[in-house]
Amino acid sequence: MKNETWGRVKQQLLESVGRNNYANWIEPLALKKVDNGVAVFSVPTSFMANWVSRNFADTILTHLKAANTSASRVEFLVEPLRPQPAAEQVVALAPKGDAKTAPSEPKVAISAVAEDAKEELPGAPLDPRFTFENFVVGKPNELAHAAARRVAEGGPVTFNPLFLYGGVGLGKTHLMHAIAHEIRERSPEKRVLYLSAEQFMYRFVQALRDRQMIDFKQLFRSVDVLMVDDVQFIAGKDSTQEEFFHTFNALVDQHKQIIISADRAPGEIQGLEDRIKSRLQCGLVVDLHPTDYELRLGILQTKAEVYRAQYPGLQFAEGVLEFLAHRISTNVRVLEGALMRLFAFASLVGREITLDLTQECLADILKASERKVTVEEIQRKVSEHYAIRLSDMIGPKRVRSIARPRQVAMYLAKHLTARSLPEIGRRFGGRDHTTVMHGVRRIEELKSTDSQIADDVEMLRRALEA
Ligand code: ADP
Ligand code: MG
Repeated sequence: MKNETWGRVKQQLLESVGRNNYANWIEPLALKKVDNGVAVFSVPTSFMANWVSRNFADTILTHLKAANTSASRVEFLVEPLRPQPAAEQVVALAPKGDAKTAPSEPKVAISAVAEDAKEELPGAPLDPRFTFENFVVGKPNELAHAAARRVAEGGPVTFNPLFLYGGVGLGKTHLMHAIAHEIRERSPEKRVLYLSAEQFMYRFVQALRDRQMIDFKQLFRSVDVLMVDDVQFIAGKDSTQEEFFHTFNALVDQHKQIIISADRAPGEIQGLEDRIKSRLQCGLVVDLHPTDYELRLGILQTKAEVYRAQYPGLQFAEGVLEFLAHRISTNVRVLEGALMRLFAFASLVGREITLDLTQECLADILKASERKVTVEEIQRKVSEHYAIRLSDMIGPKRVRSIARPRQVAMYLAKHLTARSLPEIGRRFGGRDHTTVMHGVRRIEELKSTDSQIADDVEMLRRALEA
């Protein structure tokens, strides 16, 4: 691919991602080469590499393909403008125990771009889109949202720290940035420092190496609000934890607000010192629950509005958002990526966004998020529910207290998996397919006459499909 092709693609990207995103994330990319179908771009920081690959890789690829390049994949290579230690080196410098606690999310935030020239805090850049305004509230995140709002209002510190936890892509970082935006807006004089735990470690290691621990301590003890994202990262990294603990205590003593996020509750972070765990539990601990259908639909509707404004004239069929909310239940990031790709694709090919187009365009994502329930899982859940032994589920006993749960499990296996009756029979201790068929029919009958069975089946189905 020639650089002028990339130039043209960039022009189209400007239209599809908007001016702000373009200036922040697309403009700084330099096309290095296209090799074996892989388009390699160099980016100045690993934060950027992550951000772009998470949020824009799909769109970039769609446009590259549309421009008839041979690219079938994109990669981002970190090439610092100034010499800067790479993330790997930092990890190597850190104390023992790093390998086993590699973070599940990609590495983030090794950049020291101050948002504002006068603000010299070495935090990570804030995403301008991560505001309270853009955060859709639903049952699963209601409490976390309310707590975040409260902290963002300033006022006397009532709980310290605020500890937000939850799975990947449920909005922890979004809420933290929203707090930071809000505080900066309400009280510009406040020193708000937001960084990832990884960045905290990086700065700590750097300070040790450069013998600038005094500056380091002073910096972290002089902020009004400290926000540390993905704190599970420092688990197992002893001296970083130690320093974090002291920083934490110093700030709490001064009644400065601390906001922490992690992928799990404090008590469940392995490799985290007990005294830190208990400190973290002292404030308010709230979790972001996995999204439910309504929240996903709400998020999709909000985002779709934005895209509709960006792509005027694009037709959008009924039921597409409902379909996506139903089918993509993993995390919000995947949901957003899917929607972005859908709009980019539809506008390129100039077609209406229909269910067919959605299935065509998002086949891989839909496939990946297909929830595959196994017969074994069903057997386990059902035996737990009826408090019988798993071995009895598959065994020969025929008493009703065992046979009925077994039939429920067979019924669910028939309806929730793609297994045939003989295959199901085999998994139930080598039973015949007619036995399975009988069991399935029996539950079908009972469902209409016995409301207890109907409730059980419904509840189990929901638990298995969640
Ligand atoms: P986490 O830090 O928990 O892994 P993020 O905060 O990075 O997740 O969220 C992933 C993406 O999903 C972001 O683009 C974010 O804006 C979006 N997102 C998550 N929850 C919501 C929500 N309730 N409303 C709007 N967008 C959301
Ligand atoms: Mg995050």
